[in-house]
Amino acid sequence: MKLLEVENISKTYKIGEVEVRALQDVSLTIHAGEFIAIMGPSGSGKSTLMHLLGFLDRPDSGTVRLMGRDTSRLSDEAYAFLRNRVVGFVFQQFNLMARSTALENVCLPLLYSDDRAGDLDRSREMLARVGLSNRTGHRPNELSGGQQQRVAIARALVTKPLMILADEPTGNLDSRAGQEILGIFRELHRQGMTIVLVTHGEEVGKEAERVVRMHDGKIVSDERRIPAKEQSVTGIADLDRGGSLRKKRYNYGEFFEHFRLARRVVLNNKLRSFLSILGVLIGVACVITMLALGRGAAESVKEDLARMGSNLLTIRPGSVKVRGASVEAGAATRLTLDDARAIAAVPSVRRVSPQVTGQGQLVFEDKNWTTRVIGAVPEYAPMRNQEPVAGRFFTSDENQRRLRVALVGQTVQKNLFGTEDPIGKTIKINRVNFQILGILPSRGASAFHDQDDMVVIPLMTAMKRLMGKDYLDQVDAEITELGAMPAAQEEISALIIRRHHLTPDRYDSFNIRNFADIQAALSSTTRTFGILLGSVATISLVVGGIGIMNIMLVSVKERTREIGLRKALGATSRDILVQFLVEAVMITFLGGLTGIVLAGVVSWLIATFAKWKMIITFGSLCLAFLFSAGVGILFGLWPAKQAAALDPIRSLRYE
Ligand code: ADP
Ligand code: MG
Repeated sequence: MKLLEVENISKTYKIGEVEVRALQDVSLTIHAGEFIAIMGPSGSGKSTLMHLLGFLDRPDSGTVRLMGRDTSRLSDEAYAFLRNRVVGFVFQQFNLMARSTALENVCLPLLYSDDRAGDLDRSREMLARVGLSNRTGHRPNELSGGQQQRVAIARALVTKPLMILADEPTGNLDSRAGQEILGIFRELHRQGMTIVLVTHGEEVGKEAERVVRMHDGKIVSDERRIPAKEQSVTGIADLDRGGSLRKKRYNYGEFFEHFRLARRVVLNNKLRSFLSILGVLIGVACVITMLALGRGAAESVKEDLARMGSNLLTIRPGSVKVRGASVEAGAATRLTLDDARAIAAVPSVRRVSPQVTGQGQLVFEDKNWTTRVIGAVPEYAPMRNQEPVAGRFFTSDENQRRLRVALVGQTVQKNLFGTEDPIGKTIKINRVNFQILGILPSRGASAFHDQDDMVVIPLMTAMKRLMGKDYLDQVDAEITELGAMPAAQEEISALIIRRHHLTPDRYDSFNIRNFADIQAALSSTTRTFGILLGSVATISLVVGGIGIMNIMLVSVKERTREIGLRKALGATSRDILVQFLVEAVMITFLGGLTGIVLAGVVSWLIATFAKWKMIITFGSLCLAFLFSAGVGILFGLWPAKQAAALDPIRSLRYE
């Protein structure tokens, strides 16, 4: 039965201007069960012919027929299928994967086959067949040349091909090892395998039942010593369910294998992998930190609003601005106690809290502390949710009498008194004695400063005794209901304009803001920081992606021979593409993972030292993972495509 026929095939190589006609009009028919020796001087075109017979290359002209079927129109994918299932190729250079064991090497073609059931057992069986059952775990560098070639033969046999093509399989071996290898071929032939063998040794030629001699790209003689037996083979149709000669589906086992392979590559190049993930690592860490910061800020604004009540208006002096620049320091409207009283008289205002603010040097025994001093009235406590947690607030009467009493925030308490109870103790504020009445509740840190770092004293005491101010820094007004807010704002504004005889150009010499405005202003600071992190993240991810791309390109270059081998054994372009994509994505995933750890550490540091609220959500982790996977695919695609496009023969020759 005719297994493979080539008819008038030619192949010409071009090197620059020079054309090498490696094959000229060659015709040859290979019958099932034959043992053919191809002989001829070096450069006569034997290897070129073998590559065409083995579907590793295509002829320039002429036809290659497999069991009567013309293969010239078949796709590259179909060619990969034929390499995998029809032909077992044995190379002079063995072409084993150096880092894999004998067993793994034999298994390799099965990775690309859709018939891989029991792959390990089959591979072991093949190794036993070539007499290597006790060397399954050895790597190529732990085997002799003859043993390596036997592994290669087992690899060629494992997919149960229709024929074995061997291109000078004994060329790199000493004569004894060569004899052993030939013995194996002889035995395979005896069992019915079709074998085509390129050889230099005349004695081998004598053994073969048919000898084909080549010279200058032509077949010069073809002698058959024993007539071809009529042997049938399982038709290609059995392999090819459906007629397209193509692997039916991409199996999960293959994907898992790619995953294992990628892991091995990463582990074998630890430093290189680490350096290449740095960009992604920083990018992902920035993304997560940014999101955690944003979430934390939003959360603390919400908490503040809930705590302080959203129906507060804050009236403050502001300076006149002309084209965005302050005109002069004194241009602000100075709010007085009378203003505060007038505001309190507005019907929609329930109560007001006038305040002054200043710096104070606090001394208790041998301890010093500089803090914010707030002069306030008793309304301050309920309006700002600052009812003391211990002791009591001062009364209106105490305020009018300008008593030297104070309430301390928790940071002040901690720094001046430690664990001591401060209530009833006397401290000095700017060298004036004050008695501690109570302790303020903790408000935590928000928007860049510690809100517990302050003391509150009576307004009148502050104005007349401590700061010598006759004007207010701020008046808070509580509005009876939220709906009356805009009207109240208008009314108060009109009131101040009237009381201070303000001309329109000075309307902005004071400002009224509701609490939501203030919070918005505060959170814009965190937003700015977030934008900064966001741009660092973007740049890092792009730079990281380029890093990944670079390392993948190097990897593809380095592993050109490996890629060539995989293709020669039946890997399709898509198999190679997926292999390298898996690798790129794995590297970026590692970057993503370490980025998450780094983000955790950084967020913790920010939360601890800057006292900002940081919230890392599950969603942001997912987003980071998606980001890194996206970068991996995006930047890994090009190198992977380069790998997938490589030509098997040229890649195998790559040095
Ligand atoms: P053999 O295996 O009989 O020694 P080859 O088939 O390898 O011969 O080569 C036949 C001719 O084609 C030689 O002259 C060789 O230089 C040339 N040749 C083979 N492969 C290539 C190639 N990839 N590019 C250019 N020339 C090639
Ligand atoms: Mg050759």
